[in-house]
Amino acid sequence: MEHIDPRRLIPPTNELLALPPVHRARTRLHERVIRELVQEVQEQARRGEIPPRAVEPALLAALAARHATTLTPVLNATGVIVHTNLGRAPLSIGAVEALVAASGYVDVELDLSDGNRSRRGAGARAALLAACPAAEEALVVNNGAAALVLATTALSRNAEVVISRGELVEIGAGFRLTDLMESTGAKLREVGTTNRTHLHDYASALGPETGCVLKVHPSNFRVDGFTSAVSLRELSSLTEAHGIPLVADLGSGLLTPDPHLPDEPDLASALAAGADVVIASGDKLLGGPQAGLLMGRKEIITRLARHPLARAVRADKLALAALEATVAGGPPPVVQALHADVGQLRRRTNLLAEKLKVPVIPHDGRVGGGGAAGVPLPGWALSFPEALARLLRAGNPAVLPRVHNGYCLIDLRCVPPSDDERILEATRRALEILEASDASRAG
Ligand SMILES: *Cc1c(COP(=O)(O)O)cnc(C)c1O
Repeated sequence: MEHIDPRRLIPPTNELLALPPVHRARTRLHERVIRELVQEVQEQARRGEIPPRAVEPALLAALAARHATTLTPVLNATGVIVHTNLGRAPLSIGAVEALVAASGYVDVELDLSDGNRSRRGAGARAALLAACPAAEEALVVNNGAAALVLATTALSRNAEVVISRGELVEIGAGFRLTDLMESTGAKLREVGTTNRTHLHDYASALGPETGCVLKVHPSNFRVDGFTSAVSLRELSSLTEAHGIPLVADLGSGLLTPDPHLPDEPDLASALAAGADVVIASGDKLLGGPQAGLLMGRKEIITRLARHPLARAVRADKLALAALEATVAGGPPPVVQALHADVGQLRRRTNLLAEKLKVPVIPHDGRVGGGGAAGVPLPGWALSFPEALARLLRAGNPAVLPRVHNGYCLIDLRCVPPSDDERILEATRRALEILEASDASRAG
C-alpha cells in the first residue's frame, strides 16, 4: 500500500477560515489573531503533535479559549481589600451594569430634552453632591494624582504650594507627589520637619507668593513617636485669614466617617473642618472606578474645571457611569469586605477547611493601598504549603493567595461568598497537581 504523507491531510488555511464557528469568532477576535491560531494548529499537525483530523477541533478549542483581552480575572484570596496589583476596587453589580450601559452611545454631554449640549457627567456630579452635602461643587477627573496636579497647578500659577515636610509622600512605583506637582511647574514651599510641623511653620511661610496650602494624608505609612501635625481646622483659620485656598488630599476617598477606620479622614469632615477643596481617589475606599474627586467651594472647583489641564485629565464616560452607580448604589464590594462579619468569615473558612482537610489560622486582612496603613482586619485563613501558591495563580480561575512565612494562605475576606465553591474547586485541582508532582519526585 502506498504511504500517504499525513501532512497532506492537514486542512488548508482557506478551508479553516471558512468554518462557521471561525466566522462567528470574528465578532470577538481580530482577523490577525484568528489567522495566528490557524497557523499554530497547522504547525502542531505538521510537527506530528496532533493528527490532521484534530486540527479543526483544536482550532475551535483555541478560538473558544482565546479572549479579546489578556487581562485575567483573579479571585483575591489575600485578605488585602484594595489590592493595587489587582486593579484596586472591584466594582459593584450596579456599577458594572452602568458601565456596560454606557459602553455604547450615551448622553454623557447631551440634554435629551432639548438636544443641546449639556454639562459632562452631570449625573456623577449630582450623586457626589447628594452623598456629601458639605461640598458646594464637585469635579471628577481621571485619578487622584490628576486631581492633585490640577488643583496645585491651577492654584499656584506664579505662586507657591505650601506643604509640610512630613507629608512629602511617595505613592508607589517610585512616584512622588512632590515630583508630580513640580512636573507642571508648581513651586513647592516645604515647611516644618519630617516628624513635626507646627502652625507657626505654616504662618511664617504664608505671604503674597502663596498660591495654596496643601495638606496630604499619608495614607500608605505611619509616623509614630515624637510627632506633631497641624489639624485641618487649625490650618483653616490661618488660611482663611490670609484668603488662601486650603487643599486637602485625603487619598482614600471615604465620603463620610467609617467607625471601622477611626483614623481615616473623610471628605465631609475635612470640608466641615474648613478645607476649601478635598481630593480623593474613586477606586480606593469609595469602592468605585479609577477616578479623582475634587469637591468643595464652588468658586474654586469652577476655576479648576476651566483650567486647560482639566481637559487633559477628564474622566471618561465609563468611569463617570460606574462612579455615579457606586455613589448612588448599595455598599460596593470594598465596603462589604471591610465590614465582613467575622463569624460568617469563620464559618465559610471552616467549611472549606473541612472539605480540604487543612488547618485554619487567625489571619489579619488589610485595607491595602487604599489607606488605613497598618490597621489590622481580624479574620481567618486556610493554611497550605507555600508551593501551592504558584499553582493557584496559574489555575483557572486564577486565585491569588497570600504567601507569608513559608505558607500559602487563603483569606476569604475579599472573596464574594458566591465564589467559595470556585475557590474550593481551584484549590482542589492545585492540591492534586502538587500531590502528583510531590509523588513523582518521591518516586
Ligand atoms: C492614592 C493617593 C494619591 C493618588 O491617587 P490615584 O487615584 O492613585 O492617582 C494621591 N494622594 C494620596 C494621599 C493618595 O493616597
